[in-house]
Amino acid sequence: MKRIAILGSTGSIGTQALNVIRRHRDLFAVEVLCAGSNADLLIQQALEFDPNAVAVADESKYQQVQEALSLHDIKVFAGMDSIADLMEMESIDMVLASIVGFAGLRPTLRAIEHHKPIALANKETMVVAGQIVTDAATRNQVPILPVDSEHSAIFQSLVGEMGNVDKILLTASGGPFRGRTRQQLEHVTLADALKHPNWSMGRKVTIDSASLMNKGLEVIEARWLFNIPAERIQVLVHPQSVVHSMVQYIDGSIKAQLGIPTMETPIQYAFSFPARIESHLPRLDWTKYPQLTFEEPDTKTFRCLQLAYDAIARGGNMPCIMNAANEVAVQRFIDGKITFLQIADFVEERMQQAPFIAKPTLDDLFRTDTEVRNRG
Ligand code: NDP
Repeated sequence: MKRIAILGSTGSIGTQALNVIRRHRDLFAVEVLCAGSNADLLIQQALEFDPNAVAVADESKYQQVQEALSLHDIKVFAGMDSIADLMEMESIDMVLASIVGFAGLRPTLRAIEHHKPIALANKETMVVAGQIVTDAATRNQVPILPVDSEHSAIFQSLVGEMGNVDKILLTASGGPFRGRTRQQLEHVTLADALKHPNWSMGRKVTIDSASLMNKGLEVIEARWLFNIPAERIQVLVHPQSVVHSMVQYIDGSIKAQLGIPTMETPIQYAFSFPARIESHLPRLDWTKYPQLTFEEPDTKTFRCLQLAYDAIARGGNMPCIMNAANEVAVQRFIDGKITFLQIADFVEERMQQAPFIAKPTLDDLFRTDTEVRNRG
């Protein structure tokens, strides 16, 4: 029985991970559940899955959770520090890192330092601190198993043949605004940006998908997960989201992983690896996809993807600056303070302004993140 701690259990990935566990109770159990502020859902999950401990980042929710679980043998904690502390628990066999944004970095690193295998959904962790996180994983002999569907596809294509890679072909749906011009994007609304054609996800990642920043974050994530320079990671827009990504080898052969667009498959694979286990999910019906198409991304219109390539080429704390600026910009777009096109302008401006550090320590990265957020 693998006992899993879920960071971000109340989110889109967290709830889908619980679906996987619910269907495989003979293989997986929930050891810890952590949420941001959705106390009602956290309580409901705790009552169903009976974890050893739960934690809620928002300390004002402590009493509500504590009272609701008082008749059960479930320890209750609150605050970000306690979430990181819980990652030290001996009884945890694996941690699903599915908090959104920079907030996921600290507990994920703590879990790595305490030798917990990581199922990684929280791409921002790798974007911000890829070198530090991969060094810590190597030092502690901790596997980082990708949950992001593209990275799971790459990982599945690499299983059994890690060497001789020519390049990675990272597919992108193109999001709801694929094919639009800058002029057509001038007046798009939050509701338009949240209408993703193929995937149902949290708000932040959905907006990142619309701006193609999500693909930029994924390029950087792939660079670190698979130790391959970003120049050898090519983004291909593939609107059907059936080919989840590919690996091209030095002889020109290409391996790909395909399937219906669902996050439950990559979550389950990360949980069960190296085994592949039964899934109840519908199978891909090829007759519904008479055409699989591929095109170059439009980086002139969707500038965030190019900014991500620029950030990883510069290195140091630049991806951290970019990530923090993007998190702020997305929140401003959600709050109606900036337009969709201004997301890229905002990120670029912060990348030009924030002090560059070539070899940042973890403290430097935390300082960088705070400075970019506080710049106003
Ligand atoms: P959601 O917004 O749906 O969920 C985010 C989760 O993080 C929630 O449980 C939320 O808690 C929790 N959270 C937010 N802030 C904090 C905090 N400060 N401390 C502790 N917990 C916090 O996001 P997604 O599930 O969509 O995405 C999660 C991560 O997975 C992201 O990095 C995303 O890029 C990545 N990902 C997501 C995919 C998807 O299909 N959704 C696909 C591939 C990757 P609460 O709601 O209780 O406040």
